[in-house]
Amino acid sequence: MKKNGKVFVIGIGPGDEAYRAPAATRALMKSDTIIGYKTYIELIEETLEGKEVIDSGMRKEVERCQLALTLAEEGKVVSLVSSGDPGIYGMAGALLQVKQQRQSDIEVEVIPGITAVSAAAALLGAPLMHDFAVISLSDLLTDWELIQKRVALAGEGDFVIALYNPKSKGRTIQIEETQKILLKYRSKETPVGIVKNGTRQGEVVIVTTLGEMLLHPIDMLTVVIIGNSHTTMMNDVMITPRGYGI
Ligand code: SAH
Repeated sequence: MKKNGKVFVIGIGPGDEAYRAPAATRALMKSDTIIGYKTYIELIEETLEGKEVIDSGMRKEVERCQLALTLAEEGKVVSLVSSGDPGIYGMAGALLQVKQQRQSDIEVEVIPGITAVSAAAALLGAPLMHDFAVISLSDLLTDWELIQKRVALAGEGDFVIALYNPKSKGRTIQIEETQKILLKYRSKETPVGIVKNGTRQGEVVIVTTLGEMLLHPIDMLTVVIIGNSHTTMMNDVMITPRGYGI
């Protein structure tokens, strides 16, 4: 009898294997085929022995999903790999959308992971102790007008703000505009944490201010956390008070 195929959508966590859920490792072990973006495949090399590995470039998300479903229909167990959590700017949404469109009845299991902002927050101290908003500055798939509106409203609402995809080689003005918008609502002394390659090789953790954040290197391997009006920093530790009478 033909084996039943299945797709696992896996979050491999921020980088270090110690921060990967055992459920993700188990699913990778069970898989015949592993599909993902090259950089992430490199992070899970130790689990790939004897498996078919299909690594692809960026911006091939829909093709990757189609391929995962096709292979599962042939009876294979397939892992589709995202960094961090697959449900946060990862592959879970696209895979489920493609599955819906194909009216496929292939079993899909989403396995969560530690997302970049959780890993970064732990490295910075405790910046997310109160309400926070996560905003991606990538305007590849979202209108820049809408992103600016969300930044402004999160600024007005005094949310701690975490920025994913803050800046790339070809996309540099968004982080500058974001700083400008937020300076309308917050002082330039507002603490800002910058984490590059959190829990990966080349990790950099910087605590700075809203006024000076652009003096530090920010790129696509970086997450930026901007404090709210109560966030403090001391000795490179960022704390957003929860409100306890301490
Ligand atoms: N699904 C991923 C996010 C993918 S979007 C997750 O849940 O973490 C890609 C963005 O995530 C990057 O541009 C960067 O802003 C952030 N990111 C992912 N891994 C990171 C890490 N180890 N350190 C810092 N930022 C990271």
